[in-house]
Amino acid sequence: MTQLLSTTIAGSLPKPRWLSTPEQLWAEWLHEGEYLEEAKVDAIRLAVADQEAAGLDIICDGEQTRRHFVTTFIEGLEGIDSDNRASVTIRQRYEASVPRVVGPVSRSEGVYVDDAAVLRSLTDHPIKYQLPGPMTMTDTLADDYYGDREQLAMIFAEILNEEAKELERVGVDVIQFDEPAFNVFLDDVGDWGMEALERAVDGLGVTTAVHICYGYGVKANIEWKKGLGDEWRQYEKTFPLLADSSIDQVSIEVANSNVPLELLELLSGKDVLAGVIDVATETVETPQQVADTIRAVLQHVSPENLYPCTNCGMVPLPRRVAQGKMSALAEGAALAREELS
Ligand code: ZN
Repeated sequence: MTQLLSTTIAGSLPKPRWLSTPEQLWAEWLHEGEYLEEAKVDAIRLAVADQEAAGLDIICDGEQTRRHFVTTFIEGLEGIDSDNRASVTIRQRYEASVPRVVGPVSRSEGVYVDDAAVLRSLTDHPIKYQLPGPMTMTDTLADDYYGDREQLAMIFAEILNEEAKELERVGVDVIQFDEPAFNVFLDDVGDWGMEALERAVDGLGVTTAVHICYGYGVKANIEWKKGLGDEWRQYEKTFPLLADSSIDQVSIEVANSNVPLELLELLSGKDVLAGVIDVATETVETPQQVADTIRAVLQHVSPENLYPCTNCGMVPLPRRVAQGKMSALAEGAALAREELS
């Protein structure tokens, strides 16, 4: 986009402690009404400033206006009951309090369009905006109305497509769909997950991306990963489908993972946002470690297609850790870039 090995983050950043309780997923807002809206915009300013100070190339809003990467979007739609929540097991791993689908789902207004316009006004860098993927949405709610995940995913895909087109209109350069469910429901990806994702990106002129990870660095995910064995081959099933799709970029987990790197060759022709920063540890990588991971990925991905990134979102981390990791990401990419020139 701007230079070889352009850097970006998967999406979320810690929120300032005046906005919500730090180091928590789904943390409650500490304000409401006008005060909350102002606090969110101030938080986006900080997120942008932190990414620019670190030296990152493609800038996000750090997901400062959402409590959770999936449920906040769902709660912005019609046909949803956010008050009488249900507890469900998501990604076959942990219990979460989620909204209910209680009627026909539709979108009466933009969910993140105003926030994206704020982000656009705050930086001259290319900007990326994240939306939940349709399959992951159906796995992060209680459906009391449709009773059919595929049907609901297709409806969400149409809604996401409307939102994405408006994000494009306010100047977003990259739209990313977060589909961690693609690493769990492997058969469903081929049966209907990819079709839903294709519907979500239909007719978009911007760069499109999908993020598929092994989750935030929370206990349930860390335990799950321990049981996945010496070689994590989940990507082997989805990468060929993505290689054949119209999606431009694939954001994946590499650092400290057991993903065999030769699987990346299955994405030939696509841009790879390779996670070279582990979000499951508070230890900040050295730039040298980041450069080593980038060099390993470069054995399988051409430099024109490689975007060093984080494994996943950093919302549960302390802010100083996230800041350190972003600096290490930019400095490590700079080291690897020097060797290429
Ligand atoms: Zn992730």
